Amino acid sequence: KETTGKESNLAKIKVVVRKRPLNRKEVSRKEDDIVTVFDNSYLAVHEPKLKVDLTAYVEKHEFCFDAVLDEHVTNDEVYRVTVEPIIPTIFQRTKATCFAYGQTGSGKTYTMQPLPLKAAEDIVRLLHQPVYRNQKFRLWLSFFEIYGGKLYDLLSERRKLCMREDGRQQVCIVGLQEFEVSDVHIVKEYIEKGNAARSTGSTGANEESSRSHAILQLAIKQHRDGSELKGGKIIGKISFIDLAGSERGADTTDNDRQTRIEGAEINKSLLALKECIRALDNDQIHIPFRGSKLTEVLRDSFVGNSRTVMISCISPNAGSCEHTLNTLRYADRVK
Ligand code: ADP
Ligand code: MG
Repeated sequence: KETTGKESNLAKIKVVVRKRPLNRKEVSRKEDDIVTVFDNSYLAVHEPKLKVDLTAYVEKHEFCFDAVLDEHVTNDEVYRVTVEPIIPTIFQRTKATCFAYGQTGSGKTYTMQPLPLKAAEDIVRLLHQPVYRNQKFRLWLSFFEIYGGKLYDLLSERRKLCMREDGRQQVCIVGLQEFEVSDVHIVKEYIEKGNAARSTGSTGANEESSRSHAILQLAIKQHRDGSELKGGKIIGKISFIDLAGSERGADTTDNDRQTRIEGAEINKSLLALKECIRALDNDQIHIPFRGSKLTEVLRDSFVGNSRTVMISCISPNAGSCEHTLNTLRYADRVK
């Protein structure tokens, strides 16, 4: 075994791996499924290799995580394993973060897209309980992306945003639109609107969006004195982050200058993210959040009470073996 996992549902950091099924193209190419999941907690990758005399053999790599979800697991089950257990904590001043990590096409968006909606359903149900209604707790949503180290509001015509820190080391994204969620149905519209607004260049939607991190935040705020408008004190929040394709961090030798710059930025942010999560796990006082725009923006989620769930998405086909092993090793080091 290359690692051992931690058990508790309420561990500060939880690392979950999700394997997607082979897609139609992979099946038609007769690609092998090289990933086997055991007992919802460990997996083996069978890497096809050649000896110097060109005889084929398979190298087996085993990994163990808090949970490993195979291709039959539904999005509802993913929610139950990852986000549902931390919802009550955000009513108690916790900042929670849920990341989807993995190569482009491994299922990050498929996995991440339904989670905020289900979370909002649970949160709104809790908000209706007298104890929270009496405290005037309300739910707010925002959705933005980080592309090439810059911030854009996905719910406001991709308006460029900037980040500021106030004296109390709170992060503030100037101009970011926040919308109150009183009816859960609206959340689905916001998610779809935001995803449609994600970076789409001339090269096609998935190509470009794979170079951006999309961040959807649900914040519970307390509105005292009947202050009905913006503002309110943050009680807790949960951020859902659909990370840039992990393979994009390797685009640092591309012929295109812009692609190289973006690749370097993605590489920097994914490394910084790993360092911050490791520092959190070791209860370090100093969290190296200044390593990238992504970790700076998430600064307040790395201090005080925090919960982190990392969902590592992997493709099962032999052709993705190298990326799959890279993703699993990254997830392994986060623990
Ligand atoms: P990424 O966001 O990592 O680039 P996507 O979420 O867009 O990848 O997934 C790539 C394709 O695979 C999509 O067509 C998606 O519907 C499909 N897919 C991903 N995960 C699953 C899954 N667990 N079950 C069925 N289809 C999936
Ligand atoms: Mg995607």
